[in-house]
Amino acid sequence: MSFALHSKVLTGDSPGQETTLFWYTAGPEAAPTKVHLQAALHADEQPGTMAIHHLLPKLRDADAAGKLRARFVLFPSVNPLGLSTRVLRRHIGRYDLETGVNYNRRWPDLHAIIAADLPARLGTDSKANVAAIRALVGDWLDSQRPVTAAQALRLHVLKSAHDADIVLDLHCDDESLMHIFTSPDLMPGLQDLADRMGVAATLTAEDSGGGSFDEVLPNLYRKAQRANPDHPIPIACEAATLEYRGQADTFDAFGKQDAQGLFDFFIGRSLIDLPMPAPAKPVPGPTPFEATEVLRADRPGLLAYRVELGQSVKAGDVVADLIAMDGPEAFLARTPIRAGTDGFILSRATAKFVVAGSSVAKIVGDKVLPSRAGGYLLED
Ligand SMILES: [Zn+2]
Repeated sequence: MSFALHSKVLTGDSPGQETTLFWYTAGPEAAPTKVHLQAALHADEQPGTMAIHHLLPKLRDADAAGKLRARFVLFPSVNPLGLSTRVLRRHIGRYDLETGVNYNRRWPDLHAIIAADLPARLGTDSKANVAAIRALVGDWLDSQRPVTAAQALRLHVLKSAHDADIVLDLHCDDESLMHIFTSPDLMPGLQDLADRMGVAATLTAEDSGGGSFDEVLPNLYRKAQRANPDHPIPIACEAATLEYRGQADTFDAFGKQDAQGLFDFFIGRSLIDLPMPAPAKPVPGPTPFEATEVLRADRPGLLAYRVELGQSVKAGDVVADLIAMDGPEAFLARTPIRAGTDGFILSRATAKFVVAGSSVAKIVGDKVLPSRAGGYLLED
């Protein structure tokens, strides 16, 4: 039996304060494949925690039956610091209240850190090259001396993920259909995961501009590959952000379904030695994230949506009316907010009062939008 619960105390930044991080491991430590799974890095996003809650007993049973062929590390709620950030009875789990930093931004560029030392360690064997990269990153992580609890948490999580072959970061959107964010070079490799989840979209970007957690490891290998073209270096980590619908969609029924999807994905990859489940219904392939429009309000007002999630729209169609809340026609005038591209509605805002610049909807199209190409792609 390898299934075990672990904890680590993070010393707080204020006197007498501490926070405990909990995680599980399962499967042989020396297994050839390592899977790192985490949920609620944005601590106010619970659907992933619910999914892991339902996945854990399945892994425990498979472990007891000796069926695990990979090392699984699972952080069901990876950000206890963010869990405790409550302000005026509201949970603020997305940002570090002290610094304003989004918990899923500004993860380090690991290649920049090891770039000088790497070439001397590379040879002609791709497996050995991957091991050399992981060793250098591991050494750097071990050499770090975190000062704040937030730094200690980031280092601990990165230490777990840095030598993983599969890294899945479970999030959710505001009000949304299921989708995946991943790197273009990891598709169609991760199409099996997309099918098992039953996503509406897989949105790809090499670098969305924010230093998201799921981009850290693919970027490490990709940059190492490009900087050392004479040595074989694969993209040795399949990493993705999994968006499990919207924040309010935390229910047993969804969690069970999502846990089964992950479990079947692992069986499909021969990481769990159980009979192959029935094939999943294929879902659409990836589209560039630069082809997804993040539609924003250009003034404050009250949103009156004219579309449902999943609905197809054409450029120029009205997605919502914005009811004026000031000016000569306050609470009478309605200004249409129009789609800027053809596509379907992936997400909407839960809060219907919006200010200028607020995100109103994401529209998944398949044509790269000039306004998005090469720019910052994330909503915040
Ligand atoms: Zn998130």
